[in-house]
Amino acid sequence: MTMREKYEEYIRRQKEMASAPMGRLWTNQESRYIEPFRLFGNVYYVGDSWVCVHLIDTGDGLLLLDAGNCGATAMLIHAIWSLGFNPADVRWVILSHGHLDHFGAAVFMRRMFGSKIYLGEPDAKMFRERPELSLIQENPDVSHGLFEPDEIIRDGDVKRFGNTEIKFYLVPGHTMGAIACFFDVTDGTSVMRAGFFGGLGFNTLGKDYLIEIGDTEYKTRQICLGSIAKVRNEHVDIFLNNHVDNRFKKKLALMRENQGGNPFVDPSTWGEYLDEKRDALIAFMADPKNI
Ligand SMILES: [Zn+2]
Repeated sequence: MTMREKYEEYIRRQKEMASAPMGRLWTNQESRYIEPFRLFGNVYYVGDSWVCVHLIDTGDGLLLLDAGNCGATAMLIHAIWSLGFNPADVRWVILSHGHLDHFGAAVFMRRMFGSKIYLGEPDAKMFRERPELSLIQENPDVSHGLFEPDEIIRDGDVKRFGNTEIKFYLVPGHTMGAIACFFDVTDGTSVMRAGFFGGLGFNTLGKDYLIEIGDTEYKTRQICLGSIAKVRNEHVDIFLNNHVDNRFKKKLALMRENQGGNPFVDPSTWGEYLDEKRDALIAFMADPKNI
């Protein structure tokens, strides 16, 4: 192939990716930059306007809950520095699930700083056996690859990270290795319980997707409803989003108005969020388009 032919091939592929269903999501990650902020006490927000990443200062190293979108690593590193932390102190990266918009910086963090990557066991298996389900092929940047996690997460695990003990559950549905987790956070005065549900998009519950993975009876949807019910009654003072939604945007706007109090401390959000998702999934399942 000549240089010119290689270049034309590159342009062709670029155009193809840009017109793919999710292609437009990968161009100009920087347009999603939002200023990082302290969410509460030792919990900080370092994600963008679409994909959430939380940084927990455990008192003995930093923990990242998710690693941002593929192509957004530089932005994440900038966010960590901006808050006054050194990215080299990130000892652990816990992934909500094995989709490319959440594991972007994971391998970089491991190679550069020796951070340990944690992933739900079924998604580690998915990387090996059904790598296409990671959706990594939707990323036009071929420098990203799949990986073996350093540690796998199983249902019911309790793991300690510095001064923070995290209780994990597997909440299969969006992927089979999606996790929910719960842990105490503190601002030095009060202790609050943070809760995180790692993945509830219905893009992997549509009929074409389920038929392709061999689930012709759409059992995954029932599994997903079961996962929501499994953790619905956990007590959570601080809900940590997996993706940005309108509720998050409102809370952030309120926080930036700085009228006292912390809008992210709200024990009703966890239940409201999961009930909304449950109802939306039931409606999705009843929609003739999805049957
Ligand atoms: Zn996902």
